[in-house]
Formats: sequence, structure tokens, C-alpha cells
Amino acid sequence: MPAVPVLRFAPPVLRFAPSPNGPLHLGHVLSALVGYRMAQRAGGRYLLRIEDIDLTRSREEHIAGIETDLAWLGIAFEQPVLRQSTRFPAYWEAARKLLGLGLLYPSFATRSEINASEADGATARDPDGAPLFPNRSKRPAAKDAERYLEDDNPRALRIDMARAVGMARERLEGAPLTFREIAPDGVIKTHLAHPERWGDAVIVRKEVPASYHLAVVVDDAAQGVTHVTRGQDLLAATGIHRLLQVLLELPEPVYHHHALILSPNGRKLSKSAGASALAALRQAGAAPQTVIAGLTINPPPI
Ligand code: GLU
Repeated sequence: MPAVPVLRFAPPVLRFAPSPNGPLHLGHVLSALVGYRMAQRAGGRYLLRIEDIDLTRSREEHIAGIETDLAWLGIAFEQPVLRQSTRFPAYWEAARKLLGLGLLYPSFATRSEINASEADGATARDPDGAPLFPNRSKRPAAKDAERYLEDDNPRALRIDMARAVGMARERLEGAPLTFREIAPDGVIKTHLAHPERWGDAVIVRKEVPASYHLAVVVDDAAQGVTHVTRGQDLLAATGIHRLLQVLLELPEPVYHHHALILSPNGRKLSKSAGASALAALRQAGAAPQTVIAGLTINPPPI
């Protein structure tokens, strides 16, 4: 009898990607556990990525705290752990590709000029609540933009959103820009992506060659992440992430945005919500099983 070929599928790859700007709180614990359980059930891989591109706010002590907290919770990650602060060359390369497409331009407007534009009636805001970039400051031709990368006085680089959306449409041959979202019951639905809600967003910051949006899509692709799990507060960001993936020709992961834990006043837990810091709960004598049992964790089957 001829041998039956064994089909081997690459396992799913998931990740937890905290920014080490403060101690982990219960919202992070939920995120970490949702991804971990999805990966475990599917026989997948689970990665920890430290999103430390914000050099002024990232702290070594928080990175150590994250690793201690996750070990205490019994969440295992593959080694080595990727730190975004080691990835600047990859972000440059992606930024250069976007520059080459004529999609980035240096930003000369100061924060106060952007805020002042609101007084003129330009009240539109991006999904994070920041005023949309007015896009009427002096704007050099795209061909001149590259030299600003070498500039002694570097500028943030913004995306020309209208042009980028147009180019993505061409790449998709007229099909809409979408993302696939997996619900807690495992059903995958296709949603329209709305990158234009971010306006001419910063893609390369002044101090580091990336913004959150650029770094996250470059690294999810480089690490082969198949399922991006994160809180619903990042749902709108998926629009601009999908745009960048199309423009940079990166693979499209499936997304799962889990429900957020709200503080008693109905607001999102923040890093300053001291009582929910995991380290504080641990020091107060809580057991990991008790902390985990207090969370509603609905990892979808994948
Ligand atoms: N680093 C981001 C945060 O801590 C999460 C990024 C992501 O999961 O895409 O909010």
C-alpha cells in the first residue's frame, strides 16, 4: 500500500505585546491569558514582545516586573523575548519603503499648532482622541522627504493618508480594505477597515524610526504572528495596521479584540490604577488562581 502522506501544518503563532511603561494590571493579565489559552488549545506558539520604542517611558524595572508577573501566573513564553528597541533597522527599512512610494512626509507642525487648528473649527479627532493633523503646514515634495531621515534635526514623518488609501485600493484592485475578526465563539467575520479615521498619522517619530503602528505591523510579520489578540481599545488601530500591511506587502493575521475590564467608574483600567496592579495583588497575598478566577476569559477556538 502506498504510504499515506502526513500533512503538517505550521502551528498558529500568538503574542502578548506589553509596553513597559508601568506595572502590569488586570487588563494586561486578561490579554496575556486570552492569547495564552488560544495558543495552548490550538497547539500554537506563544511569544512575548516588549514594545519599548518609547525610550523616555520604558523602564528596565517594568520589563523585569512583566516577566516576574507572567511567571507567577504560570504563563510560559518562548525565548528569546523580542524587544522593539533592538528592531530599529527593520523599522527604518519599512519607513524607507513607504518613503519610496511617496507616502510619507516630514511634519513641521508643533503640537501647539495642531491644537491651535482646533480653535479654527477643525475639531475632528482620531480614535485615540488626538486632534487630526490639519495637513496644511508646509509640506515638502515626497522626493525631498528622504533627506529628512538623515537630518541633524529629525522630523516626525506622517503618512499622506488620502494617497496611501488610494494606493492600497489599487493594490487590492478595487476590493475594500478589510480585516478578519474572530469572535469569542470562533466565528470569523470580515470588517471594513477605516484607516482614514487616523488622518495623516505619525508613522516615524522624531526620536525613533517608528511609531506604534509601524513597529507593530513590522514585528507581527517578522515573528510570523498568525493571530493578533489584544483589547478592544485597539480595534480602531487595526484599520491603519491593515493599510500598512497592504502597502508593505505583509501577511494579514486574524484579529481578536477581547472585551476590556473596566474600573468601577466604568473607565478603562490605566497604569495608574494602582489597586489593580498585579504586583500589588501578589504582595497583598493573593494567589494566582484567585486572580485568574476573578477574570472573565473567553478565548475563541482557532
Ligand atoms: N503595546 C501595546 C499596549 O501595551 C499593545 C500592542 C498590540 O497588542 O498590538 O497597549
